[in-house]
Amino acid sequence: MAPVQEVAPTEAAPPLEFLPGLNPVTMNTSEFRRRGKEMVDYMADYLEGIERRPVYPAVEPGYLRTLIPSSAPEEPEAYEDILGDIERIIMPGVTHWHSPYFFAYFPTASSYPALLADMLCGAIGCIGFSWAASPACTELETVMMDWLGKMLQLPDAFLAGSAGMGGGVIQGSASEATLVALLAARTKVTRQLQATFPELTQAAIMERLVAYSSDQAHSSVERAGLIGGVKLKAIPSDGNFAMRASALQEALERDKASGLIPFFVVATLGTTNCCSFDNLLEVGPLCNKERVWLHIDAAYAGSAFICPEFRHLLDGVEFADSFNFNPHKWLLVNFDCSAMWVKQRTDLIGAFKLDPVYLMHGHQDSGLITDYRHWQIPLGRRFRSLKMWFVFRTYGVKGLQAYIRKHVQLAREFESLVRQDPRFEICMEVILGLVCFRLKGSNQLNETLLKRINGARKIHLVPCHLRDKFVLRFAICSREVESAHVQQAWEHIRELAEDILKPERA
Ligand code: PLP
Repeated sequence: MAPVQEVAPTEAAPPLEFLPGLNPVTMNTSEFRRRGKEMVDYMADYLEGIERRPVYPAVEPGYLRTLIPSSAPEEPEAYEDILGDIERIIMPGVTHWHSPYFFAYFPTASSYPALLADMLCGAIGCIGFSWAASPACTELETVMMDWLGKMLQLPDAFLAGSAGMGGGVIQGSASEATLVALLAARTKVTRQLQATFPELTQAAIMERLVAYSSDQAHSSVERAGLIGGVKLKAIPSDGNFAMRASALQEALERDKASGLIPFFVVATLGTTNCCSFDNLLEVGPLCNKERVWLHIDAAYAGSAFICPEFRHLLDGVEFADSFNFNPHKWLLVNFDCSAMWVKQRTDLIGAFKLDPVYLMHGHQDSGLITDYRHWQIPLGRRFRSLKMWFVFRTYGVKGLQAYIRKHVQLAREFESLVRQDPRFEICMEVILGLVCFRLKGSNQLNETLLKRINGARKIHLVPCHLRDKFVLRFAICSREVESAHVQQAWEHIRELAEDILKPERA
């Protein structure tokens, strides 16, 4: 080994006071204290008055570049000027996801305790890649994932505090969780095959690996296949947009017969298009029999499983190797917070573990130490469990259940309004907080309706395709949405539809 080179001394750096124009303290602690209070006031005013802002911005692509200088300022600027630019430059280009008139995509969570915890997370500012890098960051995460797992009545095998080999980790997104699961499954099957057939190269195995999801799965699943360098096949869903075992089995048999190696299946609970549910009680046993890794993506719907009346939708989770949902969608924990559990933590750690000396902490791994960097793709990680801790304690399980139930109730209210108008149809059974509906008639008619809705900027919706039909999605999103907002939204949609249908009738 080469000896460590001594570094030759360089010319001494000039003392700081001689560096021209340097202003090392642009905001000191007492200024931060004052400005922080002011910012919380601004945030509270923003959220309190959000429904008075148009939910969708009226700007064109590139609007912002013309409003700000093309390079960073050489000299420090006054904080007032920065704050003033928020309303002048930023807010006109914001889509207000927390407006009670926002019914697009799926919800993204927001609550005051989560916002406060996020501020504290920023202040602590630790990077919890290992237990030693900040023990509280790791340990609170493990306990919060067990709390949440218990709320969902997950089998003990997924909980770190049980006698099993499982555990939970907070990922940044459901997309990341799917990718991590796919990569772990890929490593596991590759190692198993190489143990039996040592002559097989990794490249030869990868060429034959094949993963599956329903044709309704989120695009992030297909992307995980692309990034993971494996084939991903879409299984045709049934009349209820659910993946069934018969269709999966057919694909598995066909692919095995042609020399491919099935290794990974993603089942979706609560699809993005229409909130359909793959048939876990059929698909789960099949995956176990075929010894393929089963990952469950319940990004949106997962939050509802804390309510006993919706827990049956998760039946079959016991067959899964990994399970993920996003508290940052529907459980009042601000983005980012995607909860992932595995039954065998060694499957993740075994796949991604590397231990350079600068990350070792000298604590013997007695089984009590979790180094979450082995469970994820990046090294760095924020203290995200603080948000869960604040939210779970502030609302209690009962408060969280009441929140989910209110949203489902509002979706049912919207559904019943739609059903009362014979010109419209409901396109999918309403199970949680999403209503898929359309005007009876052509796709073009519905595309025009959606264009008018979003053009008017009073409410915001996005569409989906269900088979060959263009469908409007009405998702209950905001924490502050009430029955009155839903009724107003429906009145508005009806009026716009009236306008569109008039010339057709004339
Ligand atoms: N899976 C499903 C079913 C989704 O609905 C979504 C987003 O809406 C995702 C995955 C992607 O979630 P994320 O943004 O956390 O990656």
